[in-house]
Amino acid sequence: MTFDLLIKGGTLPDGSVADIGISGETIAAIAPSLDAEAGRVIDAGGNLVAPPFVDPHFHMDATLSYGIPRINASGTLLEGIALWGELKPMLTHDAVKSRALAYCDWAVSMGLLAIRTHVDVCDDRLLAVEALLEVKKEIAPYIDLQLVAFPQDGLYRSPTARENTIRALDMGVDVVGGIPHFERTMADGTRSVTDLCEIAAERGLMVDMHCDETDDPQSRHIEQLAYETQRLGLQGRVAGSHLTSMHSMDNYYVSKLLPLIAEAQVSAIPSPLINIMLQGRHDTFPKRRGMTRVKEMLAMGIRVGFGQDCCLDPWYSLGTADMLDVAFMGLHVAQMSHPAEMRKCFDMVTVDSAAIMGLEHYGLQVGKRASLVVLDAGNPTEAVRLRAERLCVVARGKVVAERTQQKTRLALPGRPGSVDRRHRPAG
Ligand SMILES: [Zn+2]
Repeated sequence: MTFDLLIKGGTLPDGSVADIGISGETIAAIAPSLDAEAGRVIDAGGNLVAPPFVDPHFHMDATLSYGIPRINASGTLLEGIALWGELKPMLTHDAVKSRALAYCDWAVSMGLLAIRTHVDVCDDRLLAVEALLEVKKEIAPYIDLQLVAFPQDGLYRSPTARENTIRALDMGVDVVGGIPHFERTMADGTRSVTDLCEIAAERGLMVDMHCDETDDPQSRHIEQLAYETQRLGLQGRVAGSHLTSMHSMDNYYVSKLLPLIAEAQVSAIPSPLINIMLQGRHDTFPKRRGMTRVKEMLAMGIRVGFGQDCCLDPWYSLGTADMLDVAFMGLHVAQMSHPAEMRKCFDMVTVDSAAIMGLEHYGLQVGKRASLVVLDAGNPTEAVRLRAERLCVVARGKVVAERTQQKTRLALPGRPGSVDRRHRPAG
């Protein structure tokens, strides 16, 4: 047996140690020891070998635009939307595309190989849609990019948004988006959920809405989203992004709501970095955390994936395409401190988000696509703790990023000469 690429001695997320043999773009074999010729052999040396990171919620049309034409002084979601409204008419096809491609380079270096990005359709030129469709094609050899038609200024609030949403879907955008809490009234928000779900059902598409991204406990559009998912037979194809209002909802109401979401198989996509940064801004003290009820949803069997949402744009002035930053923040904000919960945070930026996006070729199994990442960590929880370095990134059987292991040299009397912050318990 010969392979094109052989990854030797990696620790898989389940703790087993295995060799992974790759032929072409496919994982051909996984076994404790593969004795075979290979075009190239990479010694994983016991480091964690995981399927690539997946970001189920991002805005690639806005990324890396921080400071153009000004910064978000208040730091609120609403000023961010206003600022994006100022930036939008200034966008050019080439600027959107070159920023997106630059971000994708960062993503590859971080082992992030699948991204669902919302793309604003409230610009009659639809130039961001065109630019990102081109980006999608260009990066297809290494990143799976899924586009969501996102009527940022409101499906009904913006006069041409509905028409543009349809145009974007006709152009090849994959997923139907929405923003019910931003419509003029609760009733319009409800109506928009029904309308958009019907469009998705008619076209056989998935749905992913910005839903209830507010601290207002009365924002209950997720209820309608779950209802329409059931009514239209969209089970397993619908996600509610953010759902931050659930943080502030009455507990009795939530005790009815969560089973409805579970029954409809609607997934949830909180974005911990952005939710903790943007929510609670109208509070004095105590100040709400503003992230949705992650542990409670997981306990109900609801699928949850953590999204990054933003990187250096009108809403968020930081970000490095590191999904381990996202998992780390999510772990803290949701207080997921039990070992099983910390472990789950790794799944929420890998396998669980891949399932939300419907990536059938994804995973470290024979026959699946040979995309993976070697991390400078011994296990998934340690990867989250360290926000571990990506030592090697493989996309469709090709090594696309590499980095040497870095250890800090120490100069301390009576202490070791170097330190790497990995936890290796003695005995
Ligand atoms: Zn978003």
